[in-house]
Amino acid sequence: MKDRTRLNHPPRVQVPADNVPLVAPLYQSVKFEYPNVAETMRGLQGKREGFYYARSSNPTTRQLEVSLAALQGREEAVVCASGVGAIAQAMFALLKQGDHVLCFVESYGPTLALIRRTLHRYGVTHTMLSIEDDAGIERVLSTTPTRLVVFESPTNPVTKIADIAHITAAARRHGALTMLDNTLAGPHQHGQYEVDLFVHSLTKYVSGHGDVMGGAVIGSSALIRQLRSDFVLFGGTLDPHAAFLLQRGLKTYYLRYESQSAAAQQVAEFLATHDRVSHVHYPGLPQHPRHAMARAQLRDFGTVVSFDLREGAAAGDRLADALQLFSIAASMGSAESLVIPPALMGPHDLPPELQRLSGLAPGTIRLSMGLDDPDDLVADLAQALAATRP
Ligand SMILES: *Cc1c(COP(=O)(O)O)cnc(C)c1O
Repeated sequence: MKDRTRLNHPPRVQVPADNVPLVAPLYQSVKFEYPNVAETMRGLQGKREGFYYARSSNPTTRQLEVSLAALQGREEAVVCASGVGAIAQAMFALLKQGDHVLCFVESYGPTLALIRRTLHRYGVTHTMLSIEDDAGIERVLSTTPTRLVVFESPTNPVTKIADIAHITAAARRHGALTMLDNTLAGPHQHGQYEVDLFVHSLTKYVSGHGDVMGGAVIGSSALIRQLRSDFVLFGGTLDPHAAFLLQRGLKTYYLRYESQSAAAQQVAEFLATHDRVSHVHYPGLPQHPRHAMARAQLRDFGTVVSFDLREGAAAGDRLADALQLFSIAASMGSAESLVIPPALMGPHDLPPELQRLSGLAPGTIRLSMGLDDPDDLVADLAQALAATRP
């Protein structure tokens, strides 16, 4: 064998079966080989364990799926390249022409755009309500045959709380599936409810470091098997290296989420006492309209706090500029603390009556806690509120 060929077929390091690495290894390989054609055929037919091609599965992405399913308290999970990828691929896998979707004005902008624009092109209809419209939810589900209810809790940015038990019970009664975008609450929460499918942006709290994107759908074996066969064809595969980093993020998941939630509570309590702030949106505050429901549903109230500045949008933008420790940037759940000023706040493309339902005021500002000391975050908000006082 010439050196060039030998380099391409090196001796293999074999780790003995009883000698396990503490960290699940990164299998940065697209292809996996079985010993012969017959075993390859058995592998492809699902008659033996193993991997073949990474668009279908890879040990590192599979490890992440198993970890996430266990954390969310469900049988199965399928991961993909982003949170929006998870939402889009799940909806395309579940819906067909003529189906009806119930969705909510407080939901993530791209989710609503997918339903209102993209799925509309494929003949999927929808009704949009406010997540707090319990009577409307019952009315729509009992009068319009509905395939899927897509919702969030807490909502982003004004942290409205969905009555999850009511929504899931109503959906079951009327034969609709429920899909909860559980990104803000995180995969350690809401598992006690009869939600059919959880979707997550892993980009946020699972990554935790703002350096990798990913998405997941979590549910029963039967539903995830059905989704997976389409996901493999849609091709929004999560790269094994991203899966490895997300798996690493999971090791510190609880530490980060608990610490950021505690910081959010402290910041929310500070803002609630400030004379320039007309309203603080945080489920952990007793004055939150659904605080009791949030207490019953959530273990941690979350890391996002929004507040309305009395003087409106321009003052909110000036305040964001005056903050030193909060970066003006999208997303949440990273080590850095972040602020979204009124100028960058959606939804801008909804009809006025739906915009009013969204709960956004002209001066709404969203904060996302990083890993900074909460005392410093409060001091930074205090100095910015003082420095920009009109
Ligand atoms: C960020 C986010 C998403 C989208 O996730 P990406 O990973 O950015 O694609 C979906 N839903 C919610 C609630 C989010 O906050």
